[in-house]
Amino acid sequence: MTDNPLLRPWDAPHGLPPFERLRTEHFEPALREGMRRHREELSAIAAQAAQPDFDNTVAAFDRAGRLLARVAAVFYNLTSSATSPELQAVQRAMAGPMASHQSAVYMDAALFARLDLLHEQRTGLTLAPEQRRLLDRIHLDFVRAGARLDPARQVRYAQVMEELARLTTRFAQNVLHDESAWQLPLRGGADLAGLPESVLAAARQAASDRGLDGHVITLSRSLIVPFLTFSQRRDLREQAWRAWVGRGENAGETDNRELARDILRLRNEQARLHGRSCFADHALADTMAGTRQAVQGLLGEVWPRALVAVERERQALLEVQRSAGQEGEIEPWDWRFWAEQVRRDRYAINDAEVKPYFRLENVVAAAFDCAGRLFGLRFTPRSDLPVYHPDVRAYEVHDASDALVGIFLQDNFARPSKRSGAWMSSLRWQCRNGPAQLPVILNNNNFAKGAAGEPTLLSLDDARTLFHEFGHGLHGLLSDVTYERLSGTQVLRDFVELPSQIFEHWITEPEVLQRHARHFRTGEPMPLSLVDRMHAARRFNQGYETVRYAASALVDMAVHSLETPEPPADLCAFEAGLLREHGLPHGVGLNHRLVHFQHLFAGSSYAAGYYVYLWAEVLDADGYDAFVEAGSPFAPAVAARLKRHIYAAGNSVEPGAAYAAFRGRPPTVQPLLKKRGLVEAEAA
Ligand SMILES: [Zn+2]
Repeated sequence: MTDNPLLRPWDAPHGLPPFERLRTEHFEPALREGMRRHREELSAIAAQAAQPDFDNTVAAFDRAGRLLARVAAVFYNLTSSATSPELQAVQRAMAGPMASHQSAVYMDAALFARLDLLHEQRTGLTLAPEQRRLLDRIHLDFVRAGARLDPARQVRYAQVMEELARLTTRFAQNVLHDESAWQLPLRGGADLAGLPESVLAAARQAASDRGLDGHVITLSRSLIVPFLTFSQRRDLREQAWRAWVGRGENAGETDNRELARDILRLRNEQARLHGRSCFADHALADTMAGTRQAVQGLLGEVWPRALVAVERERQALLEVQRSAGQEGEIEPWDWRFWAEQVRRDRYAINDAEVKPYFRLENVVAAAFDCAGRLFGLRFTPRSDLPVYHPDVRAYEVHDASDALVGIFLQDNFARPSKRSGAWMSSLRWQCRNGPAQLPVILNNNNFAKGAAGEPTLLSLDDARTLFHEFGHGLHGLLSDVTYERLSGTQVLRDFVELPSQIFEHWITEPEVLQRHARHFRTGEPMPLSLVDRMHAARRFNQGYETVRYAASALVDMAVHSLETPEPPADLCAFEAGLLREHGLPHGVGLNHRLVHFQHLFAGSSYAAGYYVYLWAEVLDADGYDAFVEAGSPFAPAVAARLKRHIYAAGNSVEPGAAYAAFRGRPPTVQPLLKKRGLVEAEAA
């Protein structure tokens, strides 16, 4: 054990993980040792002779398991962003034992008896508000993990959770396999027609990453989306689209069709063990929304309006297609291409004109600058800190009084060993319970790296994604709470996208663009006319974006609202039928289909929860208006309230109350509809 660097003291600066000494074989023994010590700590809490009180039981539970937590954080970060077949094998082997450990913790009868007693006495205890919140939260964690079930049901519940952990791990690995296995080599000349230089450069880099010459398109979002937008080769667009939406549906080893059904069957059983008729009811009980009706209510506000908008957009696409001398339906692989033509015609704007102003380094600097002006943070690069991949950048983060508040790691580039998407994770949460911990926060993006010697240029969408993840990062870094369970982004899941989504607003503020969106060759700021045109075009194609998103949310809700133990025999047919019923136009197409929908099946935290982005968008659209009303995107009083009540509060305050404290009133849905151009009078 003692030669395992994960189990020795982490003596790198700031207690960062000993990345350079880590080998695959270190993880399993370290995870097992972490579980053993966690169990030991919990047994000691349960076996105390002293009557339960807040500190010897609730706070002690919050302090337990730190070794396991930090080893697991490193492990899951590597399996997501720098994995290997060997690491994947460890991940599959450990999925079951880790899930069993969770069940054993939350079904420990002696421990729960102490917590339950305190919870019953809660109104009589003299607890600070954060302490009361922690007691409620941990008690609910136990109940939701099966602490109240009878012993026979507990055995079955633990089996269900263990099996779910195995299956969701396999699901994610299958998607990664299908994503990294597919590539479309472009054979020069006609194959390249329409592709702007930035896409060509990214495709050259993707080829060289794979040891190939020429240009390659992969299923990385930052390559496939621009390819579908610009390529004049309809046949190649169709090939690429079919590969993209076919992930997880390829017969053989990586087929997710039965796997997704197995997951749904187990989730239904999980819900039934809790006395619920469907998984959505179980999942939503611990959210702001609370019920299926509330979620359907919000989707119902948006869906019909979005259908009207998308039909208007489809007509515009047909028109421009006809005037280009082409007839026929708009197919899903055509939509982005013709939309780009309309955007160019109507707003005199195109991605290729915008990208040179969004050099990656400039967008990062813009995000840091906004965090500085809003919250007083300063980011200092530290190339000497240990990281797990040469592409990762490390920063020390200081506040306005020059105190160190945390460490920020940013891993921006796509690679075959990284899963798709963009996400924030934590290697260590901020807290003051036990030895005080400064947060170590990580952002992962999947940008296509510019070819050697060439800059990485982002689209506006990419830049927004960077700001989004950075907003989650700030939620982790600015956290200022006592207890670890309430720290950072560990809030209700339909609240967690508020800090990320509200931060997206700053990337398109004219003031921010003027300062940071500078041409990578000339250093000239983005011309005002381009800023104006970008703003004029901001609601363009929002019908398309909104119906695609909302359709995925509807499918998620439908499939998790089924009250029968047995899922539909053919999930793909179920999905197609549902979309037909809801009137999704054929040309729109979905790129989050059930067979590769990682939000739903790579874990359970977003299952029956894809709606959360829209839920949080109600809050972020309404919340950002506070800056508009104050007359400045950096209005200090509004920024101070945003920091205190939203970014710093973690889960220490009930989210509805936290929002109202920031905004001075509850949110309204109108700003969201307006932002998306879904208010009739304002249709763009
Ligand atoms: Zn997010």
